[in-house]
Amino acid sequence: MRFIRDIHAEKEATGKPTISFEFFPFKTSEGEETFFDKTLPALMTARPDYASVTYGAGGSTREKTLEIVERIQNDFDLTTMAHLTCVRHTQAEIGGILDEAAQRGIQNILALRGDPPPGEEWAQAKGGFEYASELVSFLRERGGFGVGVAGFPEGHIDCSEGRDVDWHHLVGKINSGVDLIITQMFFDNADYFQLADFLGGQGVSAPLFPGIIPVASAAQIKKFSTMCGATLPNKFVSRLDSLGDDAEAVREYGIEYATGQCRELLERGAPGLHFYTLNKSKSVLRILDNLGLG
Ligand code: FAD
Repeated sequence: MRFIRDIHAEKEATGKPTISFEFFPFKTSEGEETFFDKTLPALMTARPDYASVTYGAGGSTREKTLEIVERIQNDFDLTTMAHLTCVRHTQAEIGGILDEAAQRGIQNILALRGDPPPGEEWAQAKGGFEYASELVSFLRERGGFGVGVAGFPEGHIDCSEGRDVDWHHLVGKINSGVDLIITQMFFDNADYFQLADFLGGQGVSAPLFPGIIPVASAAQIKKFSTMCGATLPNKFVSRLDSLGDDAEAVREYGIEYATGQCRELLERGAPGLHFYTLNKSKSVLRILDNLGLG
């Protein structure tokens, strides 16, 4: 497989956006079957440039991430990045996971601090890392991996000093040696453009890929946005509320909203689009089709 930075450079040279899909490990074998037999084959028709697979906060799905990344790469010939977090890991354990990743042919890692398991506060593991930037440095010292990180257009929820301080921390993290940045979901493109301008002003040249989530359910998006501190614009919430329990209408609105967001992002220079697929294909395919990228 390839480094995502090389895939992106090639894509950029053709004037086309880099398109990526994010997945999470399945909880059941039925979920795994549906994903590999139906969801991923459907998504592959859009010819994505790469994919990524999240890393659980704890529990059994953690061990699945590398396995799923390897299977996507081998069975679908699609470069896939493994997310890795600092939660409850010593440096030695992280070293072991990276050895295994390399053995499985994985070349790209999204280096994250990670979210603590539900109900717990973030705590640095004994012998582990406090910030994602330390994991980035560790990866760079080890060598052999392309490295991505997370960025937060509205500032990170835990950064009590506010958005600008968080963005300065982000620059420090990027300067530890990063190939790409993927943003948290956001619903007002102004937040993305402000972060992009700030990073440009700080001399950052790594691509900032906007993270897009096609809304499938009002209750779910309200829960996600509260958890990660992403603001839902009033107009957006009013429209969702007006649709009530009509799941099909909510999904259609989600497609319409995300299409508008993506169109403006690309027109105004975003280097690509990273879709939080929630392991589903229909909305993402419709959005790409609307954009003429299907
Ligand atoms: P960091 O960059 O370490 O930042 C964490 C906090 O520390 C921020 O508030 C920052 O401002 C502050 N900070 C950073 N450096 C310093 C410093 N030097 N001094 C003081 N403060 C500092 N979570 C998962 O558990 N698994 C996943 O697979 C996963 N995938 C994600 C993918 C994307 C694209 C995104 C956007 C998020 C993902 N997350 C995932 C969530 C992420 O792990 C959490 O948001 C986490 O709380 C922050 O991670 P980070 O890597 O940005 O942390």
